[in-house]
Amino acid sequence: LEPHIDARTMEIHHGRHHATFITNLNGFAKDAPQIAAKPIPEILADLNAVPEAIRTGVRNNMGGHANHTMFWQIMGPKGGKPAGEVLAAIDRDLGGVEKMQNDFNAAGGRVFGSGWVFVTVTKDGKLALETRPNQDNPMMDGKRALLGNDVWEHAYYLKYQNRRADYLKSWWNTVNWAKVAERYAAAKAGTLAI
Ligand code: MN
Repeated sequence: LEPHIDARTMEIHHGRHHATFITNLNGFAKDAPQIAAKPIPEILADLNAVPEAIRTGVRNNMGGHANHTMFWQIMGPKGGKPAGEVLAAIDRDLGGVEKMQNDFNAAGGRVFGSGWVFVTVTKDGKLALETRPNQDNPMMDGKRALLGNDVWEHAYYLKYQNRRADYLKSWWNTVNWAKVAERYAAAKAGTLAI
């Protein structure tokens, strides 16, 4: 993903930050086996069913696992451009690619503290631009992330320091649109795993 995102940032992000979510989730699953037995989208869509003692921990760590799994999937060195059904949906719901990117970057810039900016997708293929605080995920509201960018400082600080706007702008060069198209088709088919 160089030069847009540096290798060291990604090593720490994947190997430490995301890994910690997995370690923590496995810890919860020891005491509450239902955490491991139930599909992640079902758990995140109904957090009230999670025992209260671990509910916040599951929200943060399972949300974090879901967000980052999506994040690694939709980035790659080849990039490309939106096409086909995804492009048609962007034009229809978000005013075109350039407007989507500008609005997404602005929304990501407005996230105060840590969080995410997403293009969400409903089962009927409707797109929307949304942000979430912390590690919350659109699955908590019955939607799915088509794509999303992590605006926690750990995602960009080594290379961009306080220049989050530059990171947001540069990040688009890493989006793998072929993967995004796969996620869009899966979301509509009801088969998008995370
Ligand atoms: Mn992160």
